[in-house]
Amino acid sequence: MDPISTRRWRNLRAALLNTWRAEGRTCALRLRGCTTTVDTVDHVIPRSLGGAVFDRANLVPSCTYCNQAKGNGINRTARQGIRRPTVRSREW
Ligand SMILES: [Zn+2]
Repeated sequence: MDPISTRRWRNLRAALLNTWRAEGRTCALRLRGCTTTVDTVDHVIPRSLGGAVFDRANLVPSCTYCNQAKGNGINRTARQGIRRPTVRSREW
């Protein structure tokens, strides 16, 4: 079962979001396009890379935008890294 779909995660997530909002925290990722709103909980080390799901040391506040952008980027990079490890650096 996906740990994210468990009651344990929902409870922890809700508690963390309440705490962070009460403390006036903003999104920790700050990617381009960030809304700064604390909407969700981001895993610093993604679950797909073995990051601890319920360890608060691995959890930071994130807006929905950054959370999704980060997830997509890491997944894409990981896939490319496995199948095609060529470097395309055109920006000098
Ligand atoms: Zn953000």
